[in-house]
Amino acid sequence: MDSKVELTVLKLGGSVITVKEKPLTANEIAINRLIKEIYRANVDSVFVVHGGGSFGHFIAKKYKILEGYKTPSQLEGFAKTRQAMMALNKIIIDAFIDKGIPVVGIPPSACILTENGRILRFETRSIEKMLDLGITPVMYGDAVLDEKLGFTILSGDQIISKLATSVKTSRIVIGLDVDGLYTADPKTDSEAKLIGEISLRKLRRFLNNIAGSSNVDVTGGMSGKMSEIIPVLENNIPIIMVNANVPDRLFKAMRNEEVKGTKLFLD
Ligand code: ADP
Repeated sequence: MDSKVELTVLKLGGSVITVKEKPLTANEIAINRLIKEIYRANVDSVFVVHGGGSFGHFIAKKYKILEGYKTPSQLEGFAKTRQAMMALNKIIIDAFIDKGIPVVGIPPSACILTENGRILRFETRSIEKMLDLGITPVMYGDAVLDEKLGFTILSGDQIISKLATSVKTSRIVIGLDVDGLYTADPKTDSEAKLIGEISLRKLRRFLNNIAGSSNVDVTGGMSGKMSEIIPVLENNIPIIMVNANVPDRLFKAMRNEEVKGTKLFLD
């Protein structure tokens, strides 16, 4: 990438862009609003990764795709997980293109190979070329091929972490359906407090105590998500988590303006 261009890696949580309790239901109102916010923010260069929400998780769970290949009947599940995620990706791609933003959807299985669920190879050259040209790649958590397991599920969180540490990235913005990182799951614990900012050292200490996500999530809930982004902080790339359901928070976070949320940094 051109070293003067600042790359923002943006994660849009599955719980924001889909109706998480309703299988195969996109939250098109939220998607359209968020795309307008991204457009208005007018940042140099963006790489988008979205979650699966009600598209990926139900099917992947039903066919135990995360655990890897054990029986031929799972192949239908692998294909259907890919199909559902491509359908969600298409809804998002269409919305971006309607707003005049040149985006290209990239299935992770086309350029990423995992080993025991961890990214072994990530072919980023085409992505870098797209970013150089001013095209916004849009990837997503999905079923991928795995050297040891046959196949598995790769989370959007592992993708953003690997991408940001492989391609020169200025910052990561994570849009979710709560105000940021809390001391406990804010949906189930009324005592949960928003953490305004946290250093890597404190995050490591805190991680063991975080409660899991309250919804169906085949990739390990909030503590799994936070563990994934540790290498990003180790590389001194700051992260901000904001509530993407509240209008303008994502916009402000993208512009690096003061906004309610959680800031994560090296020290
Ligand atoms: P995604 O947006 O990627 O689908 P999830 O739904 O898996 O994300 O995770 C977001 C959810 O995690 C929030 O809605 C919240 O209920 C839950 N959660 C669990 N623990 C925490 C925590 N400590 N801080 C913030 N959210 C948490």
